[in-house]
Amino acid sequence: MVNWRRSSRQMQAATESVAVAPSTAAEKATKAPRARMMRQYDLVERVRCYNPDTNEDLLNRAYVYAMKAHGAQTRASGDPYFSHPLEVAAILTDLKLDDATIVAALLHDTIEDTEATRAEIDQVFGHEIGALVEGLTKLKRLELVSREAKQAENLRKLLLAIADDVRVLLIKLADRLHNMRTLEFVAPAARRRIADETLDIYAPLAGRMGMQEMREELEDLSFRMLDPEAHTVVMQRLDSLAERNRNLIGEIENQLSRNLQKNGMAAHVYGRRKQPFSIWTKMERKSVGFEQLSDIFGFRVVLDSVEACYRALGVVHTTWPVVPGRFKDYISTPKQNDYRSLHTTVIGPGNQRVELQIRTEEMDQIAELGIAAHAFYKDGIGSPTELLKRESNAFAWLRHTIGILSESANPEEFLEHTKLELFHDQVFCFTPKGKLIALPRQANVIDFAYAVHTDVGNSAVGCKINGKFAPLSSELQNGDEVEVLTSKAQAAPPSVWESLAITGKARAAIRRATRTAVRDQYAGLGRRIVERLFVRAKIQYADDKLKGALPRLARASIDDVMAAVGRGEIKASDVARAMYPDYKEERAGRFGVKKSLAVKLKLKSPPDPARNPSAIPIRGINSGLPVKFAPNGGAVPGDRIVGIVSPGQGITIYPIQSPALKDFEEEPERWLDVRWDVDDTTPQRFPARIMVDNVNEPGSLAQVATVIAEHDGNIDNISMFRRSPDFTELTIDLEVYDLKHLSAIIAQLRAKAVVARVERVNG
Ligand code: MN
Repeated sequence: MVNWRRSSRQMQAATESVAVAPSTAAEKATKAPRARMMRQYDLVERVRCYNPDTNEDLLNRAYVYAMKAHGAQTRASGDPYFSHPLEVAAILTDLKLDDATIVAALLHDTIEDTEATRAEIDQVFGHEIGALVEGLTKLKRLELVSREAKQAENLRKLLLAIADDVRVLLIKLADRLHNMRTLEFVAPAARRRIADETLDIYAPLAGRMGMQEMREELEDLSFRMLDPEAHTVVMQRLDSLAERNRNLIGEIENQLSRNLQKNGMAAHVYGRRKQPFSIWTKMERKSVGFEQLSDIFGFRVVLDSVEACYRALGVVHTTWPVVPGRFKDYISTPKQNDYRSLHTTVIGPGNQRVELQIRTEEMDQIAELGIAAHAFYKDGIGSPTELLKRESNAFAWLRHTIGILSESANPEEFLEHTKLELFHDQVFCFTPKGKLIALPRQANVIDFAYAVHTDVGNSAVGCKINGKFAPLSSELQNGDEVEVLTSKAQAAPPSVWESLAITGKARAAIRRATRTAVRDQYAGLGRRIVERLFVRAKIQYADDKLKGALPRLARASIDDVMAAVGRGEIKASDVARAMYPDYKEERAGRFGVKKSLAVKLKLKSPPDPARNPSAIPIRGINSGLPVKFAPNGGAVPGDRIVGIVSPGQGITIYPIQSPALKDFEEEPERWLDVRWDVDDTTPQRFPARIMVDNVNEPGSLAQVATVIAEHDGNIDNISMFRRSPDFTELTIDLEVYDLKHLSAIIAQLRAKAVVARVERVNG
């Protein structure tokens, strides 16, 4: 009987034999299938070993029920089908799970593959077990239709089922593990798909639940299926390196133990070979081979208290030279999957780099078994799901992921997010009040803000990292304390954030907020256009009247109509006609060329744009929102501006002196009153283009750039055109705060000897 899980006594045995041939998941899997099927009393005995209060009668009944139900069915291997649920149950006894889980494992394929029904299982085994079996049945049905496109939907269903009862996940993982162990009997095409899915979903999921042993075996079985050659190469090199170092490994273990003992600490020290799959991915990622012992062996030091762990660390660090930059304290800052340990690397005996993981027995259990280490079988702990909600960060992560479900537009998008989050390492940051926020590596402050709360994300305008101002796009480092500065004035996050954020939660929230904001803006714009038309036509506009006309416009609400007008899908005159069927567009007479000039004149000398209540306030560019600036030479605050409505594209803002405006003279209905809604405190920059005639001499371009930088201008782009041997014409796209700022930069440039001429370009 191969024991899948190492008990602490067996761990002792493994220590002694480690130098010879540490048993790996891979080696176990190659062992021949059990000579005989496990008997009823074998199973009961396995459970009784860890749970003396087990309900033997229940286990026996489930054994007999499942065996009878599967009857003469066989597996692809030719074994009786019943051997499969039995093995799944056995794997779960290694995890020391409660009776309901073991029984549900025995029954997990009965509803789908036999005459058994949910009602019958409820009746015989109770509702709790019935619900577990049904959860697994639903997942199995999904698996049967599983193709690439279905994978996302499967994962979604899987996670929802787990949210109901976390034991569904444990049974599902055991089920998948046994299927992977017997994969050789499955048709080759299906084999690859199953192995891929295992590597993509189940192994990372096990890892995220802290179930390291489960994850390693799943990875190893998938790896040898998907890339047998690479697997063999890695195994051979692992074997030869282990053989060459067999004495050294024992020596390191001894020295470590002795040193700790001398300092009054009883430590259990053992070397452990790293897994072929993790070595392979590291080799692929860094494209290096492995030569050092530390590349293939890690050493664990298990002690009886947290205090002893830190003392042991002290002893290790004073005995051997420390390799800098390798110390990590996962005890004070656990990984998101609840993993805790001290990590360090020293130059140890034989001048070898030695990687150490220092932890308590309890931490060791959680490091291997993850959420399954929580002894569900014990009385009085309540439901396993409730227990984990209280005690496990890993489970909190899972529930957080399920939360994203409701925000993802489609399953593929969800899969992409979840895969990303499954694979990323974590970075841990803190709010000013000390609350821990765990994020995927490479996450930035935007992700952080949304992790704190969607409202914080939506209204974030700046931040301080460890007390210093920093851009919101700053990548976060472990231990950063992040203070997010918010402003109620920010109605919606800039849509560009969607491409900056890396967490699914942030991206989904940004997309939702910008979608709403864009719609609101289009609706506001549409309303203004419609109202203008009614004023010009001297007709009374009323919402009620429009409400009655909704069917004619094939829109569901007034906002829908307005947004459609704003987007240019419906013309304002169509709205008028829907409300007043005898409305006629008096285009020729009323809105001819003369009118257009009048409109333009009015805009050239507005009474006071800032106080013009009918003008639309303009704040700045929000790509995705319907306001943007003229492509060649934008407008900056201080410029008189005018908006031009383009169907489907929203408003484009031009400075009033822009020659491009000539093109719109014939279309007065597209002109819109706009005004700036910024003041000196607005920290936003606006695009402007200048043209500089530069004397051709070494360093002249640098002088121009320096002047701009010294006066706090941003250079977005420079293009050069050699006009003559003596002069170069530079076109520079700048970002400035306002007209005053731009004028100051132009004046400073004109003062330079290398600059012959500077002009602002109005595209
Ligand atoms: Mn199964």
